[in-house]
Amino acid sequence: MTTTDMHVETVACDLCGETDADEVFIGRDLLHGVPGQWPVVRCKKCGLVRVNPRPSLEELGRVYPYNYSPYRPKKRTKIKTKHRLFRWAWRHHWDYPADVTPTLLGKIFSWPVFIWSRMLWRNFDVFPWHGEGRLLDVGCGGGAYLLRMRQFGWRVQGMDFSERAVNVCREQDLDVRQGVNVEKLYEPKSFDVVTLWHVLEHVPSPTQTLMQIRHVLTDEGLLVLAVPNFDSWCARRYKALWFGMELPRHIWHFTSATLEAVLEKNGFFVERRVYPKYGQTIQNTMNYIAREKNDRQAELLGRSKRLCMMVDMIERLRGTGPILVVHARKKN
Ligand SMILES: [Zn+2]
Repeated sequence: MTTTDMHVETVACDLCGETDADEVFIGRDLLHGVPGQWPVVRCKKCGLVRVNPRPSLEELGRVYPYNYSPYRPKKRTKIKTKHRLFRWAWRHHWDYPADVTPTLLGKIFSWPVFIWSRMLWRNFDVFPWHGEGRLLDVGCGGGAYLLRMRQFGWRVQGMDFSERAVNVCREQDLDVRQGVNVEKLYEPKSFDVVTLWHVLEHVPSPTQTLMQIRHVLTDEGLLVLAVPNFDSWCARRYKALWFGMELPRHIWHFTSATLEAVLEKNGFFVERRVYPKYGQTIQNTMNYIAREKNDRQAELLGRSKRLCMMVDMIERLRGTGPILVVHARKKN
């Protein structure tokens, strides 16, 4: 049971509808200190992990405090020479719009820059050009991703349920709408790419959100989403102390298998799966352990970004990682 004065609700599994579940552990909010003890349970039928009971929708204001980091204004970044070079390379290799006509010679000369860009962006949050370049970022927060993709030529739009996030975006001339239902806010098949960076684990029903997204995405469109990986070594080892838990804001916890099943159920198939380089999750987890358990070893590891990157690399070499990025397309 939760020990909080917060209004809570009990929910069934979003993937299969089953109500019966096994308790995995009980955790609390280690990031913002929102009160409460939150049971993390695994569906007995399909294995999808959820927080149950969880804060009800009317408590969102308390669950997402004003200083919630994704909503803070981001510094407007200048278009760097590096980015211009990348766009030139992507013109030749990924059909990005640019002032130059692609030529065979240009394609050959831009190869090293193309490889460099792929290494820098770790192959996950930029992708080949799609259709007319209309991109929607669902749960766009302060708009950092939208600003960057706009620099690369995408016609970007965003949405977020937070009024503060939407205002921050609008101050930066971004076209962002406030709401939770994608289908109500946008026309059918009006986007070539829809992205959700760490959003699906927050929404009341991933199934409903994906169904709505399917509606606004073109038939050839690309869905890109990232979630914390509940099957990663760090998650399995440290459970409630794992940075990716972020209770009670993360109410669904996915593994590669359960994420794929949720996508399949809603008319998508997974085209690509990536575990990007992301040592920050391990570093933050170590800092939690050091703080909560007064653990000297964790404190030392948490101080070294390089060591955490190494742990991250070892984990990814074993075929998994703390963050899971998926490219999915509509099944026809
Ligand atoms: Zn289930």
